[in-house]
Amino acid sequence: MDHFLYQGGVLHAEDIPLPEIAASVGTPAYVYSAATLLRHYTLFDEALAWGPHLVCYAVKAASNVAILKLLGDAGAGMDVVSEGEYRRARAAGVPGERIVFSGVGKTEGEMRHVLENGIRQINLESEPEYRMLSRIASEMGIEVPVTVRVNPDVDAKTHEKIATGKSDNKFGIPIARAREVYAEIASLPGLKITGIDVHIGSQLTDLEPFRAAYRKVADLTETLRADGHAIDRLDLGGGLGIPYARSNLAPPVPLEYGQVIRDEVGHLGCEIEIEPGRLIAGNAGILMASTIFVKEGEGRDFLILDAAMNDLIRPAMYGAHHDIIPVVEPAPGVETRPFDIVGPVCESGDTFAKGREMSPVDPGDLIAFRSAGAYGAVMSSEYNSRPLIPEVLVQGDQYAVIRPRPTYEEMISRDSVPHWLD
Ligand SMILES: *Cc1c(COP(=O)(O)O)cnc(C)c1O
Repeated sequence: MDHFLYQGGVLHAEDIPLPEIAASVGTPAYVYSAATLLRHYTLFDEALAWGPHLVCYAVKAASNVAILKLLGDAGAGMDVVSEGEYRRARAAGVPGERIVFSGVGKTEGEMRHVLENGIRQINLESEPEYRMLSRIASEMGIEVPVTVRVNPDVDAKTHEKIATGKSDNKFGIPIARAREVYAEIASLPGLKITGIDVHIGSQLTDLEPFRAAYRKVADLTETLRADGHAIDRLDLGGGLGIPYARSNLAPPVPLEYGQVIRDEVGHLGCEIEIEPGRLIAGNAGILMASTIFVKEGEGRDFLILDAAMNDLIRPAMYGAHHDIIPVVEPAPGVETRPFDIVGPVCESGDTFAKGREMSPVDPGDLIAFRSAGAYGAVMSSEYNSRPLIPEVLVQGDQYAVIRPRPTYEEMISRDSVPHWLD
């Protein structure tokens, strides 16, 4: 469920009609619903209410500081994968003791920054990484809580670009090598083993891969405890999928997911951490665009929008489906016809949908891409020198621009011409 509904024939974000936002900030623009973000966070929090836990929102899904502040103030922790994300979380007022640091390639500078400024735990992914962290932490005279991300060799049955838990992925340490790795870490200064970490992929629409991975983590917990390690926390990653098409069967809900966790690892008495990103932010945001032209082609018509692949890359990158709907609700019974929905960028890949059934659209009409809140704005670029588009947060009957659209001058003035060309 989200809070983007037609009211009086016009699509609203909570209580705000989208045309009002379009009139004040222009298009294209991302619009988020605070109530939806909070609702999704709360669903996860409640799904784990059977024991000690922390829901660490995966910042990379949508990293605007206003969104982090909204979730952080509600009690969320944060899962960050770079110093930039760490700094965003701190700028949003989230304390270091609620931030976990994940990622396969943390640099020495990033490690130092989080150690100096406070971190709940660092999830380690390789031998050279934990040796480096041990050296830095012992130089600083501190002990940092760590987990090791194990790769359980489970097929997440998701898009290959977002599957991370198979043995041929770059992520984590093969679970078969975990005992050896934990033994070495226990012998190194500056590192304090606190648990195990796993994350098998994103947009999972079936609970079975989670169940298989968590079962392996439970076995490993008992093995490592028998080896004398203190395994008190299990970081079970993110990855729960969302329905991108309304017509599809609904993927599992957080409550069922929480039950799988309870079934598989609940008996171990560990504090549970999860790192959901997409399910919290995905359906909490839309991309609003305007129609520039309706172009009649050979056997197909094109809807040319002012939004493009640089604003929302998921269709081009993952072949992703987004429901695309008119902001003004079509009259009941109006006939639809197929359109190719495209942006202005000079690449054929700049196609959002092919042969999509739409009611008649005229130039200037507003349309909305649903489910664009996660991996939308964060993956945008200025390709074709199109300035980054604004982000707007709606809460009830209020809204605010949480990232303004840069002017062309601002975009261009970041470049500088070397003196010898001047
Ligand atoms: C991307 C990522 C997540 C979030 O995944 P979602 O599918 O957005 O829930 C969580 N943890 C790690 C380590 C990740 O890389």
